Amino acid sequence: MQPEPGRVRLVGAGPGAADLLTVRALRAVEGAQALLYDALVADEVVALAPAACLKIQTGKRAGRASMRQETINRLMLRLARRGLQVVRLKGGDPSVFGRVGEEAAFLRGHGVEVEVVPGVTAASAAAAQFGFPLTHRGEARRLLIATASVRDGALADAGWAQAADPETTLALYMGRDRIEAALRRLIEHGRSPRTPALAVENAGRPDARLLAAPLERLGAEVAAAAFDGPVVVLVGEACALAQPAARGEVDPPQPLARRAP
Ligand code: SAH
Repeated sequence: MQPEPGRVRLVGAGPGAADLLTVRALRAVEGAQALLYDALVADEVVALAPAACLKIQTGKRAGRASMRQETINRLMLRLARRGLQVVRLKGGDPSVFGRVGEEAAFLRGHGVEVEVVPGVTAASAAAAQFGFPLTHRGEARRLLIATASVRDGALADAGWAQAADPETTLALYMGRDRIEAALRRLIEHGRSPRTPALAVENAGRPDARLLAAPLERLGAEVAAAAFDGPVVVLVGEACALAQPAARGEVDPPQPLARRAP
């Protein structure tokens, strides 16, 4: 007899700090028998999985190539069919540029039960850490999450008309190297060059860095900063409220207590 197929949980690992996991995500990781994790997932989060859990890194890190999506899908399916509790851990929120739709559809299509556990997305982590809101009454009525990455050599369509709207906070994910071009496009589409803008590297982590500049200058500053961690760019009036000094947690971070197995 075939064993009962296990379940796959597509879990948001948040922006890096383990204490920004949801309790549900923490429980999923602690109960995992197989863990597949992306490059953006912090080591301290992976370390919360049981010692006996099979841990597989699927993303690029330290020069190693990433696994193809098809390979990841097949691997999750195989592990679930062995009856294991599979956790697919993704940086931030799995539903924000996390391919959660594709993976869930593949698994459900093969009869595997899927549960999605949300996480703190990079823009939320950046806002909390540097003291600005993503929406702000009367000034920032909309939040637009878009990507600055390229497809076929051209900037992906970020919905420029909406992105140029003065009451929109734009959060640009991915495409660190295309930020300058994307911000230029925004000005060409009518966003004021003086709009406050921010680039946040490693949001949510103790080593986060903030760059603040008017929209017309931020691209050049990002290029000069030569970031090497993940960067989220935010544009909009609410960004004027950012506090330049990183404010960590109110209390110094405590290591998460491991529960008895
Ligand atoms: N699911 C993730 C996004 C994955 S796409 C989330 O919800 O946050 C990867 C992009 O997300 C990166 O290129 C970067 O733009 C952004 N990102 C992810 N983690 C980040 C972090 N800690 N700080 C800044 N940007 C981050």
